[in-house]
Amino acid sequence: MTDPLVKRPPSVERLLGAPGVDALEARYGRKAVLAVARAELGALSEAFREGRLEAPVVATEALVAALASRLEVHHRPRVRRLFNLTGTVLHTNLGRALLPEEAVDAVALAARYPINVEFDLANGRRGDRDDLIAELVCELTGAEAATVVNNNAAAVLLVLSALGSGREGVISRGELVEIGGAFRIPDIMEQAGMTLHEVGTTNRTHPHDYANALGEHTGLIARVHPSNYRIEGFTASVPTDELSQLAHAHGVPLVEDLGSGSLVDLSRFGLPREPLVQESLAAGADIVTFSGDKLLGGPQAGIIVGRRELIERIKRHPLKRALRVDKLTLAALEAVLGLYRDPDRLAERLTSLRLLSRPTDEIAAQAKRLAPRVRAWLGDGWCVEAEPALGMVGSGAQPVARLPSAALCLSPQGSRRDAGRALSALSEALRDLPIPVVGRIDAGALWLDLRQLDDEAAFLHQLTEYPRRASQVAQEALAP
Ligand SMILES: *Cc1c(COP(=O)(O)O)cnc(C)c1O
Repeated sequence: MTDPLVKRPPSVERLLGAPGVDALEARYGRKAVLAVARAELGALSEAFREGRLEAPVVATEALVAALASRLEVHHRPRVRRLFNLTGTVLHTNLGRALLPEEAVDAVALAARYPINVEFDLANGRRGDRDDLIAELVCELTGAEAATVVNNNAAAVLLVLSALGSGREGVISRGELVEIGGAFRIPDIMEQAGMTLHEVGTTNRTHPHDYANALGEHTGLIARVHPSNYRIEGFTASVPTDELSQLAHAHGVPLVEDLGSGSLVDLSRFGLPREPLVQESLAAGADIVTFSGDKLLGGPQAGIIVGRRELIERIKRHPLKRALRVDKLTLAALEAVLGLYRDPDRLAERLTSLRLLSRPTDEIAAQAKRLAPRVRAWLGDGWCVEAEPALGMVGSGAQPVARLPSAALCLSPQGSRRDAGRALSALSEALRDLPIPVVGRIDAGALWLDLRQLDDEAAFLHQLTEYPRRASQVAQEALAP
């Protein structure tokens, strides 16, 4: 059945009056439907003018269907849940740490109701938003005082601006790192109004290098944990306690950026050890900064701890207001930090730590269990094996450490010259699923590292729900 108006597209009014459009209006609103209808018809008039308009396209039913699908695509949330099967647990591009339920509940509460974000319930006066978490941070780290900003990059910028502006920052050449995404220590120093005074060499820096650099213009000594790379071999650096003695003898603070920073010794969970915030403070660092969403396992935040007098100066700096955290972050952070009060149960309750410390044999058993299901889903031509794999912590934490894991290894059967193309087509198809599946292509295969496959049911549900999509995809991927 074609519309009587096959020769030219219908008017907007006519299209809006067609059956089915009122349902679209009820769902998306009249404004959106009108805008999309105009766009749709605009494209058709152009085709009409150029004489390439085919009758079936202009049928009202076809137009309404096109309208519905355009609206659906346009209104689909851009923020999508996905399966991170890359093997990198704290993946910066995939949102880093996953919040534990306690934190999710706290975020929902803070989102839904008025909260005492800057309100002192004891006396009814205005409060300080840092007070919501400062006490807990101090309890866990042994710091005198604490404050929190939007992320750790912001924390470093704020600390340097508040404590060192107009003066020299002494730092080892081995620590002039780039963290990624245009965050380079020399640039941040400059942005903070400091003059960089680099000392030592890339691989070795000695106490006398620092001592020789300290002078009347020195504002602070900075130390940056080189989280995302490692120098090995002939190396030397000055321990924090020795460096803090040097700084204090000269009357300047030692400021340490730990990057990931950790509040518990990760080796008790079978993970490589990261420097602890409380150790840096105990060794005499005056200020320590670290991220909320790396190994801490919380929301994106930059936590600044240290001596009370310095924290007060930092809080008075105008950048503090510009970089402050919102109430949702504070709510999540308090809940996550609360879990650290009971380190014995941390690995069960803190999602990121639970995933990081998942036993390899458990993941291997999961891979064995899932391999036949995925093989059946993909159909002929593809090979699906359960294989040992090596994952990573991610986010620059422990750059060289590997997490022994297990993966589904997907590859085209036999040797094909176009295997690379088939693999990219397959990974594209997996990303196109309702809950996109993100893996990693390596050594002629697509690897789905299962360390983070918590929700196996949702994963399997997709396979049973979309068997046709898969076989189509798999065939297309293998098509010559
Ligand atoms: C990750 C990192 C940062 C930046 O932290 P964000 O929370 O991502 O802003 C700064 N310094 C070091 C050493 C880091 O590892």
